[in-house]
Formats: sequence, structure tokens, C-alpha cells
Amino acid sequence: MYKKLILFLILCSSVNIFGQDSKPPNIIMMIGDGMGLSTISSGMYSNNNYTALEGSEYVGLIKTHSLDDLVTDSAASATAMSSGVKTNNKVIGLDSKGNLVETILEMSIDLGYSTAIVVTSSIVHATPASYYAHIDNRYKYDEIADHLSKSKIDFFIGGGEKYFNNRSDKRNLISEMNQYFFAKNIDQYKKSNSNKIGFLTADDEPIEKYKNREPSLDKAVEITIQKLTDMKKPFFLLIEGSQIDWGSHDNSQKHMISEFIEFDKTIENVLDYAKKDKNTLVVITADHETGGVAIVDGSLENSMVKNKYVSGSHTATMVPVFSFGKHSSLFKGIYDNTKIFDKLESIIKK
Ligand code: MG
Ligand code: ZN
Repeated sequence: MYKKLILFLILCSSVNIFGQDSKPPNIIMMIGDGMGLSTISSGMYSNNNYTALEGSEYVGLIKTHSLDDLVTDSAASATAMSSGVKTNNKVIGLDSKGNLVETILEMSIDLGYSTAIVVTSSIVHATPASYYAHIDNRYKYDEIADHLSKSKIDFFIGGGEKYFNNRSDKRNLISEMNQYFFAKNIDQYKKSNSNKIGFLTADDEPIEKYKNREPSLDKAVEITIQKLTDMKKPFFLLIEGSQIDWGSHDNSQKHMISEFIEFDKTIENVLDYAKKDKNTLVVITADHETGGVAIVDGSLENSMVKNKYVSGSHTATMVPVFSFGKHSSLFKGIYDNTKIFDKLESIIKK
């Protein structure tokens, strides 16, 4: 009798140990749009010579070219990272022949993960759209919003309300998405107990951070992580610092650096969460470099830099990948951006 009980207890504890060990990890994917190494360095020197990226465990580099152009756009590069497939510029979630490709976010949903997207652009912009939409042109925003409405993503925060309720087909996706609570501000988002919440932060594209954009990315992410944790399932969270890219397109170091610093603050919080949780993987990268940024002057004492830009568009230079937490060592080295998907897939399908 006692022997049986002891055997039973040993079995229980070993199951528990294995259970804990094989518990699927949370994945937090963070994309700084256009965040090249000089962008990071500019932000770091402008932030008392510090970036939260110093807390990452491994660093790698990815090749960003698309299928039809050495210089990628955000649609092709995000599709490469979300689905592992190289496609043409402007294409979202389709291969070059127009076939639908499954994304890591969609696989996560199928595997029972909770999911969320938090961005500082519209929610239908190329980077987030590449995780839930499948369309031949990134600028078909009404159709992308329709894809989001059918995506089963649990929580999303971003601009672009007009693509939901002021559409050319006169449909109102906000009323169609009746399983969702639509928050009007961050307090409503925080207080809602609904397990499906959308928060459309602007009618069109959200304003710049230095013009006091609300909510802050770090706060929006902090509340979203709390909601995901409350769901008591593994989660996949996509975060984008969308406007780092826009600052560089405009060759505006003020815009670029302020967006980076907000993203960096978010990274700090995310890494703190992952440190405590111990079953979370954080991958932080960029879809491409923007602006051909060079730091030509500056001052450490005054925490400032002087940048020059060689382009008003993207460049083809490799961009860094930073990783932390569960399985983070997989992300070191130099590899193609499609491998980001391959590595994440190998982790969630373990
Ligand atoms: Mg983007
Ligand atoms: Zn861009």
C-alpha cells in the first residue's frame, strides 16, 4: 500500500517536472521598423549612453532582401519573418505565386496560444498585417481590416479606426466583430474583463511620439502582457515600434530617436517580465534599415548625436537580432530573415 503510494507520488512529481519543462514558452516578438544599428546607436547615445538591448543574451544579424529587390519593403520583410517565405515587395502573407502562407501567429492560435498585437502605426499597416492578413498589396487597408476581423487575435492596439467603420463597402467591422469589446481609451482597455479587446488608438495613423502620442507603447504593452498572463495559456505577442522607420524616411533624427527611446523603454519592461517569468522568449529585431543613418558627430556629456542620412528610403544592410530567455541561443549567428520564422516554428511545435 505504502509502496504504491510512494510510487504514485514519484510519478506525480516526475510528470510535474516534465510538465513544467515542456510547457510551451510565451513568445514576444518585437520589431523596430527601420531600426538599423546606427538607429540603435543614435538612440543609445541620446539616452545617457544606455539601451535596454544591453540586457539581451544573444545577438545575431539577418539578411533582409526581398525576392524581387535587394532593398526590401516592410511587407516582404515582415512576411519573411512571419511565415518563412521570401516574397515580393508590397506583398503580405502570400508567396510570389500568390499562394497563402501560414504565419507564426496563425500557428500559435491553432496550437491554443493567446495572441496580441500592439503597434504605434495603424493596426492594418504592413508589419502587423503580415502576421494575420494575406493580400497582394499592402495598401488595400479595407481588405486587411476585414482579414483582422476574422483572425481570432485576442487583443490588439493600433490606429486605423476608419478602415473598420468608414469603409468604401459601407460595412462596419466594429459592429460585425461583436465578440470583441472596443475600448475608447487605455483605461477602458485596462478595466475591461473581456477576453477579446480591440483598441483603435487613432482614426488614421497615430501621431508622432514627440507630439505626445497616447497611450505610450510601454504602458499599452504592460497592460496587454497582464491580460495575456491572466488567460493562463502560452501567448504570442507582436510589438512594433512602427514609427522609427517614418522618422528615418523624413531624415528627422528627432522623430527617429524619440520613437526608438519609447521602443527601448518597452524593451526594458518586456525583458523584466521575461526575467521573472522564466518561460518566455523575447526576440527583438528590425525588418530593414531605413535612411542609411550615420552618426557623424555628437557629445556623450550632452547625450546627443548628429546624424546624416544617405537615403529617404530603406537600405539593404543587415540588421541585428537580439534575444533573451527560453531558446534564445537559437537566434545567434548570421542568417536570412526567413529563419526567424523557422526558429520560432521549431519552438512552438516542440
Ligand atoms: Mg511597420
Ligand atoms: Zn519604411
